[in-house]
Amino acid sequence: MQFNENTVSLIQKAEERCKNAFAQLERIALENQNKVLDAFRENNVGQRHFAQTNGYGYDDIGRDTLCKVFAQVFRAEDAIVTPLMVSGTHALTVALYGLLRPGDELLAVSGAPYDTLKEVILGDGIGSLKDFGVAYRQVDLKDGAFDYDAIKASINDKTKLVFVGRSRGYEWRDALDVREIGKMAHFVKDLKQDVLVMCDNCYGEFVDTIEPTDVGVDIAVGSLIKNIGGGIAPSGGYVCGTKECVKQVAYRLTSPSIGTEVGSYAYGYREFYQGLFLAPHVTMQALKGSVLFGEVFASIGYKTMPLPKSECKDIIRSIMFDTEDELISFCRAVQKASPVDSNVTPFPWDMPGYEHQVIMAAGTFVAGASIELSADSPIKAPYIAYLQGGLTYEHAKIAAMYCLESVLNGKK
Ligand SMILES: *Cc1c(COP(=O)(O)O)cnc(C)c1O
Repeated sequence: MQFNENTVSLIQKAEERCKNAFAQLERIALENQNKVLDAFRENNVGQRHFAQTNGYGYDDIGRDTLCKVFAQVFRAEDAIVTPLMVSGTHALTVALYGLLRPGDELLAVSGAPYDTLKEVILGDGIGSLKDFGVAYRQVDLKDGAFDYDAIKASINDKTKLVFVGRSRGYEWRDALDVREIGKMAHFVKDLKQDVLVMCDNCYGEFVDTIEPTDVGVDIAVGSLIKNIGGGIAPSGGYVCGTKECVKQVAYRLTSPSIGTEVGSYAYGYREFYQGLFLAPHVTMQALKGSVLFGEVFASIGYKTMPLPKSECKDIIRSIMFDTEDELISFCRAVQKASPVDSNVTPFPWDMPGYEHQVIMAAGTFVAGASIELSADSPIKAPYIAYLQGGLTYEHAKIAAMYCLESVLNGKK
């Protein structure tokens, strides 16, 4: 290969140290694959479900069965899975507007929700939740865990929805364990029976053998161009949860009283099914890549999150660099190691919905799909690269060599 001996040897040694972690990831993937397979078998998925549909889409069995399969995988009562939600942000937005009413209060309990939701919740004069009279309150994590005292103190008569982000967002913290999210859900429901708990599940699907809806969360929301689309789904979002929550979200997505009775897709549904089928394996490939990157960059002195030897709770690997230049050269190496647009040089850019300039490396087949190997970082100190995805472990391994050489050469 084109890499120097030192690079190859650092990678090989790191890979040796990953063996136990890899074996654990394979066990998780096996359990999830079985869960997904059962859902396909028990819903009698067949070729007829992949068909293209048009017009209103009444009795669209491809759409309806896809929702049933997702609901079963999430052990939820119901689900909406659709390309009509254009992104994860859109799915989260529709869910928030579907569940909240004027006078209600939204309580975020894992710090600020993902960057793109800030304006959705608090924007001025743009039809934000605030414009519609929904109040917002936030409790930050304390040492990376729920601050139960502060949560208790923040729940009041108006609290309608408790929002938790499973993944880390753009922060130097680890993702949250599903079991901890479950404990928190029970805690808030004990304090106020009618409160709903919603989880931003982006980057979390199939990282564990259970999902938030297994442990008391009312509704889990995510993107189909991350883990659960398996790298195959072309676009879309999902919500899985209780019948009542899903109904309210469906009424907001289309029209009150119509909900998911309608909605056709002229392109056909095969890729959503096949993506879900592949997702446990693809997520495991991405996680193996994350573990390898962690070992390699820790071995040359960088801080990474999750910490070496700790389990992954989402597919992201955070790597803290010393300078902006190092961060940028890391992201450029990820781009250079991509199968698509490898000749493109990423630059920091103003992105809609983000506060700082962001640099994004995503040489992907599905545009911007971050289940494919990609890296992004807001340009602010400390200089943290957020690396995620990788459809194959081999790709991540090769990319790790590019990144390692690029960062080490920059140091000379
Ligand atoms: C990606 C992501 C979103 C938003 O998804 P988009 O599809 O980019 O709009 C929300 N929350 C988290 C934690 C994410 O990683």
